[in-house]
Amino acid sequence: MHDFTYIGNELYCEKVSIRKIAQEVGTPVYIYSSNTLRNHYQVFDAAFSGIPHIVCFAVKANSNLSILKLFASEGGGADIVSGGELFRALKAGIDPQKIVFAGIGKTEDEISFALKSNILMFNVESPLELKKINEVAGNLALKARVALRVNPDIDPKTHPYISTGLKKSKFGIAIKNAIEEYQLASTLPNIEIVGIHKHIGSQITEVSPFVAAMERILDLVKKLKESGIDIKYIDAGGGLGIRYKDEEPPHPGELGKALLPLIKDAGCTLIFEPGRVLAGNAGILVTRVLYLKTGETKNFVIVDAGMNDLIRPSLYEAHHEIIPIEKREGSSFKADVVGPICESGDFLAKDRKVMKPEPGELLAVMSAGAYGFTMSSNYNSRPRVAEVMVEGDKYTVIRKRESYEDLIRGEE
Ligand SMILES: *Cc1c(COP(=O)(O)O)cnc(C)c1O
Repeated sequence: MHDFTYIGNELYCEKVSIRKIAQEVGTPVYIYSSNTLRNHYQVFDAAFSGIPHIVCFAVKANSNLSILKLFASEGGGADIVSGGELFRALKAGIDPQKIVFAGIGKTEDEISFALKSNILMFNVESPLELKKINEVAGNLALKARVALRVNPDIDPKTHPYISTGLKKSKFGIAIKNAIEEYQLASTLPNIEIVGIHKHIGSQITEVSPFVAAMERILDLVKKLKESGIDIKYIDAGGGLGIRYKDEEPPHPGELGKALLPLIKDAGCTLIFEPGRVLAGNAGILVTRVLYLKTGETKNFVIVDAGMNDLIRPSLYEAHHEIIPIEKREGSSFKADVVGPICESGDFLAKDRKVMKPEPGELLAVMSAGAYGFTMSSNYNSRPRVAEVMVEGDKYTVIRKRESYEDLIRGEE
């Protein structure tokens, strides 16, 4: 469900014409629907309404302050993976008691910042990190609340680059060592054990891996309780997939239905860290066609957005639908939709059947609200693009397009 639809032949976001935004703000531009974001949050939240829970939006999916503020106003928390994300989450007014901090390489400075900010908990990924957090907390005369990130060795059946819960993964602590690590944690004076965490991967389109992982986690929670270690929070991570092309991911309600019976008697608060499922289909990238070119074996549609603006196709061979902003009569052809970057890997779509566009026409790259702008860069010295939020019949630029001056800020 999203709010990007044709009215007549023209694509709208809620009640605002995309063409109008493109004319006034320029291209490329990311456009988000506040209504879709809010809806997605509420649907996800409602799926777990039967038990105490916190929805911590995964900031890395889309870290724009206006988007974080929107989730904060709905009562959402944040799943962060860096000091920078903590800074953003706090700026957006997210309650520190709803912030959880994951990541295998937290630095002393980041740990200290998070401790002083009084976040809910650290999701700890290794014994040495645990010791480091204990040491930093000791120096600050504070106690650090922690969960251990356990690797349940479940195959999420997704792209290997976004699979994180297998034995060979760099993330988390092997489930067979978990009790030992919890016992270590319980001996550290500045550590307070409060939870357990898992996150098995992203763009998961079935319920079964979530259920299998939760069963393993609950089994471990029971064993921990037996050995005197109490767990208040079960953090089930993120990873629920969305439709990019023809996937049929479960509705959050289905996930809730499958998980609630398992956990309702565990006596724990459930934490979720959805990223993509909240933001993915709430955003698009609008780009303008610059040139058409016929190679020896292929057609190319050359557009003004490149892999620096949206890297998912290049990095994960991800599929994004590409549709015209203005529907019209015309012939279709097969082409690669490519950007201006000097790399062969710079494409938004390969061998895609699209309507043969005219130079100057606008195209929408769909499902770009998550891992779009946040993964963008200045490669080829391209200023990062503007971001726009639509609300009903109004739109706001929520991040200005960068200028050439922005490109050299801080350089000598
Ligand atoms: C990336 C990530 C998420 C969000 O994943 P989605 O697939 O976007 O829901 C949640 N938790 C952790 C620890 C992550 O690394």
